[in-house]
Amino acid sequence: MLPRNIDYKIIEHSPNRSSLVIFLPGERKTPKVAFLGHLDTVPVEDEKEWRYPPFSAAVENGHMYGRGTVDMKGGLAAMILIILYFVEGKMKPPADLLFVFTAGEEADGLGIRAVKGRRAI
Ligand SMILES: [Zn+2]
Repeated sequence: MLPRNIDYKIIEHSPNRSSLVIFLPGERKTPKVAFLGHLDTVPVEDEKEWRYPPFSAAVENGHMYGRGTVDMKGGLAAMILIILYFVEGKMKPPADLLFVFTAGEEADGLGIRAVKGRRAI
């Protein structure tokens, strides 16, 4: 659940498949800065080929292993930390910030096409 003071929009593509857009108003209206990241991962063909189960998010020696940990859950985590930095600190960023978390990047570009079509903004 997102805090009530965050301006966001969930774009539902189908049941259980959505993209999320979060807007943080800045001190200035220009330049506007957008951060984009995708939520999906490519399918796993053979789980037996993996040292760790691909969807376990196994942690060993401070490193997380699993499908999507690099592409691109790390980037998504960085985006979330930026949002929390400003929201929890009750600060405005220096410029308008848009955070776009999309579905379908790895297969059909579903999420980014919906945002590009300006349904989200
Ligand atoms: Zn990717």
